[in-house]
Amino acid sequence: MEPPPSREASSASTVVLSFDVEEHHRIEAAAGLRVDAHRQADYALRAGEATRRLLGLLASRDLKATFFIVGEFARRDPALVRAIADGGHEVASHGWDHCRVLEMNFEEFREDVRRARDALEQITGGPVVGYRAPTFSIVPRTAWAIDVLAEAGFAYDSSIFPVRHDRYGVSRAPRQPFVACGPSREILELPPATLRLGPWNLPVAGGGYFRLFPPWLLRAGLRQAARVGESAVATLYFHPWEFDPDQPQLPLRRLSRFRTYVGIRRNLPRLERLLEHALARYTFRRAADLAGRTETRNLPRFHLAGATRGPVSPLGSRHLGCRKLVFD
Ligand SMILES: [Zn+2]
Repeated sequence: MEPPPSREASSASTVVLSFDVEEHHRIEAAAGLRVDAHRQADYALRAGEATRRLLGLLASRDLKATFFIVGEFARRDPALVRAIADGGHEVASHGWDHCRVLEMNFEEFREDVRRARDALEQITGGPVVGYRAPTFSIVPRTAWAIDVLAEAGFAYDSSIFPVRHDRYGVSRAPRQPFVACGPSREILELPPATLRLGPWNLPVAGGGYFRLFPPWLLRAGLRQAARVGESAVATLYFHPWEFDPDQPQLPLRRLSRFRTYVGIRRNLPRLERLLEHALARYTFRRAADLAGRTETRNLPRFHLAGATRGPVSPLGSRHLGCRKLVFD
């Protein structure tokens, strides 16, 4: 039995529900794999279908979410992008072709961001004000990306994961919304949710963590965030392909296969239960709406370039004796 919603955890705190919309073969675990055009087209079709099912789920609960969409995929399925916007959801950018920021230089990233946003805005006719980097690849080494996003006029970024593992994360970054400072500009940052346990931040916000960890861990993260008070925010992220258990599996190595497909069959009912739980306790907002009502002058400022990495969490890859157990 769930305990009744407590007073301090009532609708004062905000949940931002987000989806990173990309075809399955674009995941980081598949980097370097050759996926033929036929299979790619199949994954694109399936990503569209899975996203449409999620739109139905959200509509049935009158829930509005934020969809960070890969530009190249949007170009391929513009009707889906229109359906997302028509459903009252936010259309935001997940880069042009899911290339990690770590693999681009300043100019290339600027072009990637412009191209992706143009593609989305041409489809919806509305402004795109939010960005999430593929595989959370805004880290101290790519702090200049903050300058690019701010210069381009984005209202917020949601790419800095305050956890430590081998591929991404800035564990000393604030766990609640903050101002991310690049070398010369700054932007509102909405970090994915974490659960603080002693000196560690556990990633509980979604993706593979949501599929692997027991559901109470994320609920504890939401409860902990709510204790911050009225301004509390928990940003969650999922991928449509994580709700498509019958998709053809990528030929990944054993460990990558585990982390990519663990829990995928039970993921949709698990999400439904989470939404039921959270809807009774928290206010859901689209990231852009939250950004619009956030006074950045009251937020902590965090200089990304000088950030150190901080301790590895007990559920992080090293503790498990395997540096590759990371999730997109
Ligand atoms: Zn992605």
